[in-house]
Amino acid sequence: MSYVSVEGLSKAFGQNQVFSDIGFTIEQGEFITLLGPSGCGKSTLLRSIAGLNPVDSSSLTVAGQEITHLAPQKREIGMVFQSYALFPNMSVSDNIAFGLKMKSVPAEEMARKVSRIIELVELKGKEDCYPHQLSGGQCQRVALARALVVEPRILLLDEPLSALDAKIRKNLRIQIRAIQKELNLTTIFVTHDQEEAMLMSDRIFLMHGGRIVQSGTPESIYTQPANAFVAGFMGHYN
Ligand code: ADP
Ligand code: MG
Repeated sequence: MSYVSVEGLSKAFGQNQVFSDIGFTIEQGEFITLLGPSGCGKSTLLRSIAGLNPVDSSSLTVAGQEITHLAPQKREIGMVFQSYALFPNMSVSDNIAFGLKMKSVPAEEMARKVSRIIELVELKGKEDCYPHQLSGGQCQRVALARALVVEPRILLLDEPLSALDAKIRKNLRIQIRAIQKELNLTTIFVTHDQEEAMLMSDRIFLMHGGRIVQSGTPESIYTQPANAFVAGFMGHYN
């Protein structure tokens, strides 16, 4: 049985059917990239998995547990957004500790976990800084740490690199993948950037017109596109 299983996932906003009858499975520790053009429904799909928007129908299981009807905070899913979404009036440490405080984790254990995760994302020395004192790349590492500190079963990353400059983007791309491998963390990474998808993924799910039109290794999608859309979309990569 796969670690993550999604069946029959559909979502409409009024008359706008964003996607319908999406299904896939993911193995534990896999790094999946959900790739597709802007507006194709990637964020909506991710938010549906996280429980942040109601879906019209689906079955969702993680580690053998049906989570379809669980509240977001009970799903043990970590999420990172393009816009960081940090609390501006909280220090780096307090931002990262937030999820642990919500779970009433004892102070000593909380301090230990926060300090370990700060080392993992290489933010040592920035504990007492506030978000406005940090670069975009550092803010995104705080957001990543905040998602990781509660030890989620799945990590969802919604275009975490898109707001960053090229050099920082490359560094963070490599760092995210290294951390994900070290933790063996099952991850869905969303991007509209073919190059990122090609460089980072175990498998790519390519989304278009409310469907996943092809899934497979970067190499297989690039060399054996299933249709003209896939060929055209991947062809921009060089
Ligand atoms: P992507 O992340 O791939 O760029 P989105 O998931 O943000 O795409 O959007 C997919 C479609 O759903 C778009 O047509 C968008 O306008 C629509 N949509 C997204 N969120 C909402 C919302 N809260 N209310 C109404 N329509 C929405
Ligand atoms: Mg989006």
